[in-house]
Amino acid sequence: MKLTQENYYQPSPYMSASQFKAFLNCEACALAEAEGEHVREASTALIQGQFVDAYFTGNVEEFRGKHPELFKKDGELKATYSVCESAIERIERDPVAMQYLDGEKQVIVTGEIEGVPCKGKLDVLGSDRIVDLKCMRDFAPVYKDGERLDFIRAWGYDIQAYFYTELVRQQYGVHLPFYILAVTKEASPDLMLVEIPDWLINSAGEVVRHYIKRFDAIKKHEIEPKRCGRCAYCKETKKLTGPMPYDKYLEEVML
Ligand SMILES: [Zn+2]
Repeated sequence: MKLTQENYYQPSPYMSASQFKAFLNCEACALAEAEGEHVREASTALIQGQFVDAYFTGNVEEFRGKHPELFKKDGELKATYSVCESAIERIERDPVAMQYLDGEKQVIVTGEIEGVPCKGKLDVLGSDRIVDLKCMRDFAPVYKDGERLDFIRAWGYDIQAYFYTELVRQQYGVHLPFYILAVTKEASPDLMLVEIPDWLINSAGEVVRHYIKRFDAIKKHEIEPKRCGRCAYCKETKKLTGPMPYDKYLEEVML
């Protein structure tokens, strides 16, 4: 199967960074998503990010076609999405940000990690760098599973960095630095350009290489996926088998 802009998001044997992250989160949900059986509800936040991405990577018309509900009759964005416009203007008036956005846009790369076919879609591929654009609420630390994390690790951008740098290395034979260009959706949008260091990419690579064969085997239905029990998919598809003993109940709710 040859990947194109049209079929990139269709179910395929290729593992992407976001699919890998979904499997880390919940195998059962990720499998259902991979097969198109469960569709994650597109949140306002996700669509806002996609709009900013589309604006800078030249796909605004395509985006408009997919999301006509976001626009008013005069073609202006609806109020909920006007934060996107402030974020875009913020980036546009920073020459360094604009310089880092220069390059080929939405470049599809493929390769293999531990023998598993993998894919990535790069926002920007410059001659000497890979840049990914992120639109987020703010730059505050994120609390995840009781841990206080920086946004790069909290959202798994280190895993994405590993996928992208590794696939570019395989396809083009070069090791390029990976940068996150992040903008906030605050009333006064903040801006940040961060280089993901090799040590962080390497440690994310260890996690990827440790789990990827298992996740691939789950996609091939060779292994049963584990249910996390906490995500929307697990809640929706849970089946009661009978009453639960009190000690087991305590174990579950007091985690
Ligand atoms: Zn789950």
